[in-house]
Amino acid sequence: LVVGWWLGVARVTAPIPGAIPMVANVAAGVALLGLGVWTGAARGPRWIAAAAGVVVAVVGVLTVGESLIGSTWHGLDQLLARDPGPPDSPFPGRMAMNTALTFTMLGVALVLLSIRRLPGVRQVLGVLAVALAFGALRDFVIADVALSGLRVTSWTQASPLTALCTIALGVAVVSADIRVGWAKVFADPMAGGRLIRTLTPGIIALALVSAALTRFLLGNEDLRPYASQLAIVFLVGVAFVVLLAAARRATAADQERVLDREALATSERMFRLAMAGAPHGMAVERLDLGFLTVNESLCAMVGRDEQWMLSHGFPDVLHPEAIDTDRAVRDLLLVGDSEYNIHEGRLVTATGDSVWVEHSVALIRDEHNTPLFYVSQFQDITAARAAQAELLHRAHHDPLTGLINRGQLEDRVTDILHHQQRRNGVAGLLFCDIDNFKTINDTYGHAVGDDVLKATARRASLAVRSDDVIARLGGDEFVIVLPAVRDLEAAVAVAQKIRAAVRVPLSIGEDHVIVTLSVGITLAGPGVDADWLLSRADAALYQAKEAGRDRIATADGEHIVVIEPG
Ligand code: GH3
Ligand code: MG
Repeated sequence: LVVGWWLGVARVTAPIPGAIPMVANVAAGVALLGLGVWTGAARGPRWIAAAAGVVVAVVGVLTVGESLIGSTWHGLDQLLARDPGPPDSPFPGRMAMNTALTFTMLGVALVLLSIRRLPGVRQVLGVLAVALAFGALRDFVIADVALSGLRVTSWTQASPLTALCTIALGVAVVSADIRVGWAKVFADPMAGGRLIRTLTPGIIALALVSAALTRFLLGNEDLRPYASQLAIVFLVGVAFVVLLAAARRATAADQERVLDREALATSERMFRLAMAGAPHGMAVERLDLGFLTVNESLCAMVGRDEQWMLSHGFPDVLHPEAIDTDRAVRDLLLVGDSEYNIHEGRLVTATGDSVWVEHSVALIRDEHNTPLFYVSQFQDITAARAAQAELLHRAHHDPLTGLINRGQLEDRVTDILHHQQRRNGVAGLLFCDIDNFKTINDTYGHAVGDDVLKATARRASLAVRSDDVIARLGGDEFVIVLPAVRDLEAAVAVAQKIRAAVRVPLSIGEDHVIVTLSVGITLAGPGVDADWLLSRADAALYQAKEAGRDRIATADGEHIVVIEPG
């Protein structure tokens, strides 16, 4: 605006004839363009920019037209102020041809800026205007006639001031909205932007030096300097297009790297968060098993704080009995047969208690398959194991006496028979039943009956050897299995020992009860099974009961012999 005013007012009023070649319409054009860029770039109502652009472009186009058809019609250029022009000018007062061209381009660019369309075209127009104005400026600097002397007589030269103004306006039009169009690469903070900002001044400087050199080496006698300068402009254009493509690529690669970095950071954050909030113990261990990271759950599990954990290693919280398994598991992972392993492990707490864990461990490798570290997860299964053991115990034992039950007895007998040959002797089975137990129940009540059953179980257990098996079959029936007995006589001796232990009077309040047992005995012959042994002993027991109770009967093959109490 200021320069336009100065061009128009100050120069027109200057009393130097011939020194005001362009006067009003150039001055108005520059002023309008300045106003347009100002408003079009967002600071003012954009319709002002559009209107200014249209006016300037129309004036430019009309002037170009006038020059091309060689019209001497002076209407347009003399519209606002009469300009006599230089004395030898064939078209006094007319705006120079390249000024008119740059005005046309800048006017159109301004309209595009105001409607926010085709930013790439706007920027190209801006660059062309700068180039054209720059050519005029160059001609002035080296006192040449250049474009104005190039065949077409109407190519009059823009004044240096106009040229300077249009250079500034061209740059302004390109950079007015630099976030869009191809020129946005200049504002790109990434690698492409850095590349183009670094190289562009170099290319321009190189072009200027080359242009100056052609002028000095080739002189100004013919058209050759211009031809070579046109070539330079062409080369600069090509170089610039290549540079733009390279910058775009560099930025794309940069963006990919940034995305990769972000993805990595995100997955790392995710992993940390997942670890921190995990209800299970988690740790990352180095290959030497030192802890890299541990989560709170793991610290709580072993009763240590994070600092202690990080200054120690996994072996310091590993139960001594679990060391071998752990080593075997990690060796397996290192060999590479599998990526992870889940096994039952055992940790040791600060107070020396052991914690059973389901330990899942994964070996993380880099892209070259080199092992990096282990990621471990621990689930405390101590309570689950105890509950399972309790269930198993309940399934195999009689809740009242704690002796094994019928199911378990059959398994044990089968097992004993299976290993019969290895023993010195045969298996013997003693089937015992309390005599008249109903009477005890009826006389003293069920609770006392229970106590009598418990006492009997205890006494019988104490009377036999540790490797003998004693079970309660239910009711008042007990079975004792002797894994290796010499003969029937020896088995009878054991039965007598048990009977003697059981018959010691039991005090019930003021009263005493004497518990007697009837026993049926049988020995395992070759090829017999648990069922057969139990049924034969039961048959013998039946005979003992029949014979009057409180006695022993033996079943030897088909024969059952009741031993009369002595
Ligand atoms: P026998 O001399 O013929 O063996 O006569 P018995 O009275 O002992 O009769 P039997 O062995 O046939 O019956 C056992 C009784 O034990 C039957 C049942 O009332 C009682 N009983 C079974 N289980 C329990 C128990 O868990 N607690 C108590 N207190 N009594 C039981
Ligand atoms: Mg009984």
